Amino acid sequence: MALLVQKFGGTSVGSVERINAVADRLVKHQKAGDQVVVVVSAMSGETNRLVALANEISEQPTAREMDVLLSTGEQVTIALLSMALHQRGVDAISMTGSQVRILTDSAFSKARIKSIDEQTIHQHLDNNQIVVVAGFQGVDEQGNITTLGRGGSDTTAVALAAAINADECQIYTDVDGVYTTDPRVEPKARRMEKITFEEMLELASLGSKVLQIRSVEFAGKYNVPLRVLSSFEDGPGTLITIDNEDVMEQPLISGIAFSRDEAKLTMVGVPDIPGVASRILGPISAQNIEVDMIVQNIGSDQTTDFTFTVSKGEFAKAKRVLDQLCAELGAREVIGDDEIAKVSLVGVGMRSHAGVASKMFDALAAESINIQMISTSEIKISVVVALKYCELAVRALHSAFALDESTS
Ligand code: ADP
Ligand code: ASP
Ligand code: MG
Repeated sequence: MALLVQKFGGTSVGSVERINAVADRLVKHQKAGDQVVVVVSAMSGETNRLVALANEISEQPTAREMDVLLSTGEQVTIALLSMALHQRGVDAISMTGSQVRILTDSAFSKARIKSIDEQTIHQHLDNNQIVVVAGFQGVDEQGNITTLGRGGSDTTAVALAAAINADECQIYTDVDGVYTTDPRVEPKARRMEKITFEEMLELASLGSKVLQIRSVEFAGKYNVPLRVLSSFEDGPGTLITIDNEDVMEQPLISGIAFSRDEAKLTMVGVPDIPGVASRILGPISAQNIEVDMIVQNIGSDQTTDFTFTVSKGEFAKAKRVLDQLCAELGAREVIGDDEIAKVSLVGVGMRSHAGVASKMFDALAAESINIQMISTSEIKISVVVALKYCELAVRALHSAFALDESTS
């Protein structure tokens, strides 16, 4: 008998048929004596549909109303899944974020969980009920509905697992685990038996959407055993573990992440004097625009080119800020490019091995892929390439670092 939190993502509850399949799976667990808290996402496509509806009404809907709107998707699924369980003679109760008292701060659309009232959940579990919780949503001190950012149901699940001290948090999705890269881009990608929190955190933050980054942070911080599995077939999935030594032989590279959600801005011919970086990035951060990679070249004529990346959604806003600054700073021009992608190698094995970067650059050169920017940290190397080469770059690197199924 185990205490489990099981989360089912959008595709896993994307139709009545899928919801019934999830209900069947839950009944099996209950029959085996497990206590289960279920977290569900909105049916696939629903959150995007709601975003599009809002944008038809208003270019800039208020953040509060946006969260009221987006949270409805999950509310539909908890009710339907609970009905499906009742239909099978199982006692189940649906709960919204506010009913569970998933208390968050008031940062609409990216709220952070502060606390969860685990008492209520335990009471229902003790009454032999399956508790079906709406993912992605919470409530702030004032009673406003908040949401946790796209993909946030993963975080709801992990936070609940931490709060009730679950034996495992199981993330059911449409792939049967975490792969060496997105299997939709590289069919030769391999499922990993295990991966460390540290590496999973890097992969998630560099664009692998299989887990929301905050959920991995949370799991690492509260030491929640986390597993990614398929809701379509049985299998062991991938365990995200703390223990490095558990992972038998540490490969050089564990996985490849990529993000197409990038854009690049360059201020060309800025006078090369102290304080310029802060005068460029100050107004950018004042507009709440997050900057990712930064490169500054030293020019030969007392000027420099200053380049940085932002997410694609903030490109136009960032460009407007720079266009305004250009004359003020005496720079030559501003160049923008939103047809780029960031491709990253991740692996704790990099710590003890030199030469990963040059091998990476060789593999890209062999495919005539130009590298526009580079950034490194202890366990990752990222490059920016033209968007049209994103998939080719991923596949070339996957093969160069012997990650392909057939080479393992
Ligand atoms: P859900 O709706 O269940 O939350 P997501 O679409 O958020 O599912 O996440 C699952 C998807 O993540 C997969 O369909 C896959 O395309 C993508 N993905 C990206 N990188 C990886 C990876 N390294 N391993 C497995 N899946 C990945
Ligand atoms: N429904 C939300 C989204 O699409 C949250 C989630 O699925 O995790 O982002
Ligand atoms: Mg997801």
